[in-house]
Amino acid sequence: MRERFVYLDHASTTPVRPEVLEAMLPYFTQKYGNASSLYSIGRESKKAMEEARIKVAAALGAQPGEIYFTGSGTEADNWAIKGAAYANRKKGKHIITSAIEHHAVLHTCQYLEREGFEVTYLPVNEKGLVSPDDVRAAIRDDTVLISIMFANNEIGTIQPIAEIGKIAGEKGVYFHTDAVQAVGNVEINVSGMGIDLLSLSGHKFYGPKGVGALYVRKGVKITSFMHGGGQERGRRASTENIPAIVGLGKAIELATLDMEERNQKLIALRDRTINEVLKRIPHVRLNGDRQRRLPGNVNFSFEYIEGESLLLMLDMKGIAASSGSACTSGSLDPSHVLLAIGLPHEVAHGSLRLTFGEENTQEDVDYLLEVLPGIVERLRAMSPLYEEKEGSQCTVKK
Ligand SMILES: *Cc1c(COP(=O)(O)O)cnc(C)c1O
Repeated sequence: MRERFVYLDHASTTPVRPEVLEAMLPYFTQKYGNASSLYSIGRESKKAMEEARIKVAAALGAQPGEIYFTGSGTEADNWAIKGAAYANRKKGKHIITSAIEHHAVLHTCQYLEREGFEVTYLPVNEKGLVSPDDVRAAIRDDTVLISIMFANNEIGTIQPIAEIGKIAGEKGVYFHTDAVQAVGNVEINVSGMGIDLLSLSGHKFYGPKGVGALYVRKGVKITSFMHGGGQERGRRASTENIPAIVGLGKAIELATLDMEERNQKLIALRDRTINEVLKRIPHVRLNGDRQRRLPGNVNFSFEYIEGESLLLMLDMKGIAASSGSACTSGSLDPSHVLLAIGLPHEVAHGSLRLTFGEENTQEDVDYLLEVLPGIVERLRAMSPLYEEKEGSQCTVKK
């Protein structure tokens, strides 16, 4: 039996809040009506869905009619990018994105390249920031879409979204942002920030998995994502997942309500972890920007260590963490984000992402700080690359 379990992987998913589950439950049992049906339990489902839509819109500074429910954040990203690209083919075939996007964006862009579109992948600086000047310079007459994520899922860097939105607006190019990591953590106002399309996902802010939403500014041209019935104003067919949509609505409402309070707590956990690890463990670097980062995000690279071994040893101590993006763990390719900020392959391999959430406490940080230095030391002692000389100096064997 494990002594304790400390979950430090909230960027990969979060538990469903009890209030969210409670709001969802009746829609599995008594209130199971199809939202397209005309009898009372159908209308009840429809009403619950429209209330959720109002909550999502309110959290983004949007109109309810601009919110479309989807099956996930990945689906929202796919729809935004393919939808904008296909609907605006007459204007052009050029898309601008960044090198550090989530695979839901990157792989969609790569797919479109195979379909004849051209994609510019903007570089980022050593902190993971996209330069608005680079965005401006990349815009061509045939550019149909700019897609830059709000906040990065691995290193937590928050992009200058309003500046990019302003440039996109001036040039008349659609601006999509993958805000899956930002919603519930950062203030968002789509109109104030010049955002035309925005993706979000329920399970990243204590809502259920398998439900997301796409904000589509009124008047923006995108193709329909799924063809079938007339759901979601004919743009995303298929019977709506009412329990999940209700849960998403409740979760976004709660996340927005106590955002400031939660962020203060998360920042305290984050900053103490960063300060103490940098102080107690040699040969470690913090990835990402010190200030412009998500409140709960910590990402380190430990030299002379393999990230996967670190994760396994942390797991044996009951600590759940990640070595970068969950989708690439298990493969030996280092994270594209860490390579894009200039880390050498071997350093990128030794990375550890810790993402705090609302149920974490200072005692969790105490526990982490108690076990992490010993684990790092043991792994380095086994590493052929690492040889400690007189306590602090170390050499890399060739
Ligand atoms: C998790 C995540 C996604 C994918 O969302 P799903 O709902 O899991 O499909 C997309 N982008 C970012 C930045 C994410 O963190």
